[in-house]
Amino acid sequence: MRLSRFFLPILKENPKEAEIVSHRLMLRAGMIRQQSAGIYSFLPLGKRVLDKVCNIIREEQNRSGAIELLMPTIQSADLWRESGRYDAYGKEMLRIEDRHERDLLYGPTNEEMITDIFRSYVRSYKDLPLNLYHIQWKFRDEVRPRFGVMRSREFLMKDAYSFDLDFEAAQTAYHRMFVSYLRTFARCGLKAIPMRAETGPIGGNLSHEFIILASTGESEVFCHRDFLDLEVPGEGIDFSDAVSLAAIVDRWTTPYAATDEMHDTATWDALPEDDKVAARGIEVGHIFYFGTKYSSAMNAVVTGPDGKETPVHMGSYGIGPSRLVAATIEASHDENGIIWPKSIAPFDVGLINMKPGDAECDAACEQLYAEMGRAGLDVLYDDQDTRAGAKFATMDLIGLPMQVIVGPRGAKAGEAEIKIRASGERETIPLASVVTRVQA
Ligand code: ATP
Ligand code: MG
Repeated sequence: MRLSRFFLPILKENPKEAEIVSHRLMLRAGMIRQQSAGIYSFLPLGKRVLDKVCNIIREEQNRSGAIELLMPTIQSADLWRESGRYDAYGKEMLRIEDRHERDLLYGPTNEEMITDIFRSYVRSYKDLPLNLYHIQWKFRDEVRPRFGVMRSREFLMKDAYSFDLDFEAAQTAYHRMFVSYLRTFARCGLKAIPMRAETGPIGGNLSHEFIILASTGESEVFCHRDFLDLEVPGEGIDFSDAVSLAAIVDRWTTPYAATDEMHDTATWDALPEDDKVAARGIEVGHIFYFGTKYSSAMNAVVTGPDGKETPVHMGSYGIGPSRLVAATIEASHDENGIIWPKSIAPFDVGLINMKPGDAECDAACEQLYAEMGRAGLDVLYDDQDTRAGAKFATMDLIGLPMQVIVGPRGAKAGEAEIKIRASGERETIPLASVVTRVQA
């Protein structure tokens, strides 16, 4: 992509409304634009990152055996009356009336709708286990939308729903998602720590929030230092092996970890000082087993091996990709801007032409641009006739992992400068080795 043809509305000034660094940087880097309170457009640079995050989520959901579908954003109030949540949900739900005076709503979540789909087609335990997910916009009329896409009213969510015959199978379904989440966040370049969460009337221990440590997080969190170097399962993990899944979950839930709501000061105080990490955190995912809450209310039953009908056991599993983009920036930035982990960077590399119009410089850049493209690299080519300082500032701000800088002198000498965004390291190398260097 040539910067001269791209749509990258960089802001020079610090937007006053932005209270936290991710919000500030997303606005400045032209990733998002607020359309009304808590409602944002994702501009092209932001959309690229969001898509990358969604693709990682999708790959890991699919790997674990979950199946993608797409449910609508608008739902009928009648479904929610069946579960009793239409009245219970309160003001966070955006209620709509259509021209026929039918009550509709903009979905804040999809338990009712997925339960309806399930009960319409599935009759037998032989069709289980089943896990269906989608990635769809949600609307929650948050009292205080803030921090940009971190807590917005309209936001993207991946929500998965599992269906199983009994508690044991449902627990394995929960473990599958737990492990899938560990892999998902690690692939996004993040360290997310699973922390026990409120289970409400269901009880048990099958509810975890996945929390990223960042000083601007909304919740206070407490965890054991061991989490910082626990190993994330590799892609070879067998999602049909209930025993090894349980072992992984066990390993990841044994050291102490809790948000302030679940914090147990006695256990915490008993830990050696050096093992304690007290920090702030951002919730990026939440998994939850809720038994037959919806299936009982909505009559979603299957026939078991004994020929008897029973309500299915369900769980739901959410990740907020739009929040995750902001949370990544909170966890990875410096005073000059964003530092994207490779896997979700909007482009792999930025190519800077220091002197557009200089024949040798143009020729060297055009050749590099073409070669990197052929090598499968996604390049943002700054071919604009602007000041050097502005070029560097923009590249640093948008945070691509690597920059290739070509000036007239370098072009003449057959050299380019490589800059690693995260460390600031610079190195001059022959033009001919740029592609392999960038790929490495
Ligand atoms: P929170 O406690 O932060 O309001 P929640 O418990 O309401 O979150 P869930 O209903 O579990 O969230 O939703 C699943 C995921 O959706 C969350 O882990 C988060 O990543 C994302 N999410 C929830 N609310 C928002 C929001 N207002 N803006 C952006 N993402 C959100
Ligand atoms: Mg909420």
